[in-house]
Amino acid sequence: MENNLRKTVIIGSGPAGLTAAIYACRADLAPLLFTGSGFGGQLMLTSDVENFPGFPEPVLGPELMDRMMRQAERLGTEIVREDVVEVDFRNYPFRIKSLNKEVQTLSVIIATGATPRRLNLESEKRLMGRGVSNCAVCDAYFFKEKDVAVVGGGDTAMEEATYLSKFANKVTVIHRRDKLRASAALQKEAFRNKKISFIWNSVVDEIVGEKKVEGIIIRNLLTGEKSRLSVDGLFVAIGYEPNTSLFRGQVELDEKGYIVVRNETETSVPGVFAAGDVKDYRYRQAVTAAADGCKAALDVDRFLKTKEEYISQLQV
Ligand SMILES: Cc1cc2nc3c(=O)[nH]c(=O)nc-3n(C[C@H](O)[C@H](O)[C@H](O)COP(=O)(O)OP(=O)(O)OC[C@H]3O[C@@H](n4cnc5c(N)ncnc54)[C@H](O)[C@@H]3O)c2cc1C
Repeated sequence: MENNLRKTVIIGSGPAGLTAAIYACRADLAPLLFTGSGFGGQLMLTSDVENFPGFPEPVLGPELMDRMMRQAERLGTEIVREDVVEVDFRNYPFRIKSLNKEVQTLSVIIATGATPRRLNLESEKRLMGRGVSNCAVCDAYFFKEKDVAVVGGGDTAMEEATYLSKFANKVTVIHRRDKLRASAALQKEAFRNKKISFIWNSVVDEIVGEKKVEGIIIRNLLTGEKSRLSVDGLFVAIGYEPNTSLFRGQVELDEKGYIVVRNETETSVPGVFAAGDVKDYRYRQAVTAAADGCKAALDVDRFLKTKEEYISQLQV
């Protein structure tokens, strides 16, 4: 038996990766999980999570992830706190390498998530989860009868603005161009909505507030003029970057870089599965990512059953 040959390796420690680990343990697959340097994933960036089932009181994002991690560890997941830096899915068993570890594996679950694009302001980082958000479905509820702004002009920005208008008093969309990129239907819906207004040809230069968002400084790109808008929340909706550069040329990606899946979790390479935001730009929720992780682990178990003869020769 080669001691670095695993039944399954999971890449990523967000809700998708850790749920996959929990299910893989229960299926007796003794998973090894690379957390990546962004341990816990996107929920580490937020404070109160109100929509994850099982928590009648709000739970802090980092606490929720810590609980998932401890559950995965208790059930037997081997955790490696490193980034994967290289994969080889062209040969079987697959090969996965981090800075200090190299393993071979009979199956892989990719759960590397996506990274929301940032404005790259110091104040954005400081006030993330304190009025700055990337997710209206998650946080709109906190802005009942308040004034908020949305940055962006694509589909996501229009969806966020329309969703926010159900709660907020007023939604101001700030877009750097003089027209939107969003689909015609989403534009129409936003233009018709009396709560939504637009500031064109403008960017957010600064977010004002020490402990919470109190306003934003907007710069008009044509005139250079700066103005302050009082808002309680700022939703940055300028897109996501799927964390897939590592997998380019190894599994099929779509034009935006997301992993293409069939039957929910199967990538273009048999034995390599994907779960969570790395392949899902539609729902982008902790609970849907967790559900995907569960599906991927069950699919790994099924896949390995088709390899039983091969595995018995290897004695994994
Ligand atoms: C500010 C904010 C607030 C949010 N609030 C909510 C909320 O209240 N409720 C809700 O349901 N959803 C919320 N979301 C969305 C939710 O966080 C995501 O949908 C969910 O985290 C996706 O889970 P995931 O496991 O697919 O990916 P992620 O959470 O993105 O995790 C990806 C993981 O992959 C790892 N990784 C990446 N590259 C590598 C590599 N090379 N090697 C090893 N590991 C790697 C990272 O370290 C990370 O651990 C919020 C998102 C943001 C940004």
